[in-house]
Amino acid sequence: MERVMENENWKRQIEHSLRNTKDLPADFVITESEKNYFENTARGGSLGFSVTPYYFSLAENNPSDPIRRQFMPSMDEFAVKTYELEDPLGENRFSPCTRLIHRYQDRALLLVTDSCAVYCRHCFRRSFTRLNRGIISMEELGNVIAYLKRHDEIMELLISGGDPLMLDNQELEMILDRITGARKDLVLRVGTRAPVVLPQRIDNGLLSVLKSYLPLWVITQFNHPREITAQSRKAVSSLVDSGIPVLNQTVLLRGVNDDEDTLALVCRELVKIRVKPYYLFQGDLAEGTSHFRVPLKRGMKIAQELRRKVSGLALPVYAVDLPGGGGKVPLTESYFLKRENGSCYFKNGEGEVYKYPDE
Ligand SMILES: *Cc1c(COP(=O)(O)O)cnc(C)c1O
Ligand code: SF4
Repeated sequence: MERVMENENWKRQIEHSLRNTKDLPADFVITESEKNYFENTARGGSLGFSVTPYYFSLAENNPSDPIRRQFMPSMDEFAVKTYELEDPLGENRFSPCTRLIHRYQDRALLLVTDSCAVYCRHCFRRSFTRLNRGIISMEELGNVIAYLKRHDEIMELLISGGDPLMLDNQELEMILDRITGARKDLVLRVGTRAPVVLPQRIDNGLLSVLKSYLPLWVITQFNHPREITAQSRKAVSSLVDSGIPVLNQTVLLRGVNDDEDTLALVCRELVKIRVKPYYLFQGDLAEGTSHFRVPLKRGMKIAQELRRKVSGLALPVYAVDLPGGGGKVPLTESYFLKRENGSCYFKNGEGEVYKYPDE
């Protein structure tokens, strides 16, 4: 009974999600550019609008609010730069079958659905999330499994989308069952924003499904300290208590978290709730996301300041996924200065130079 209630709880959030301007409260301040977005979506090609009542409630009624900026679309999304790409990571050439991307030798990425509880306006997977193809079909899953069987160099499977936790517990169990039935040795990673935008989703039924596929890691996306609430804390705790390590990938977003104090706060708060900050991503060159992008030079300065502020536990790796399929590279500053007369010279965090004899 309890399970049924909880299950309905997250489905009720989806059912009551805000999906067009008519769903916004009467006193909601809407800018001209936001209003025009909704009038122009008929043009097609844009990422849909949907926000859960829960995530909506975290936002302040002010167009520059950092939570609101993540779910409220505007005409800025139609401003496509010449260097922005439909396939910003050049993944097409790494896709051996539909919905599977095998870019790195020992791990592959599976896109099980293209729907999400909240469509993040900065989404770099927007060319996939706007397709409305829904959940992976049995035929597609069969092809993916055949590939996984032939490629035993794949040791880790990233299950993403879209948001895989938009599938209900039975659908998820069926997919995980078929995958692990064919490849018992796989380590699973589930990429989901549910703890942030739909914490009700982490219900007992889900926990008992996920628990039976350990080792399984969850990677989520907290971008701002105000996303850490009593509910998201509870969601994360129940995952960790079930033996599921939780990591976080923050996207560096202009007007949301592009200063070291906001990032330090979110990273420290994550450590308190037992979430390890894993990556801080430079914005990918996805179409219509330039208003969120932080120039690399500034990003590197912010990351450098962050490093001075927080502990190693709280520090994510600032990285960029190179366009055209180059893959992820860390954007760390170099502490190495030079090698001279059998010694290496380093600059430490305080800018002082130290010698390390190394013949
Ligand atoms: C990011 C990514 C991975 C995982 O990379 P890690 O550095 O191990 O987190 C795997 N496959 C694809 C296609 C990716 O984009
Ligand atoms: S949850 Fe992920 S895939 Fe979905 S819109 Fe947000 S960034 Fe894109």
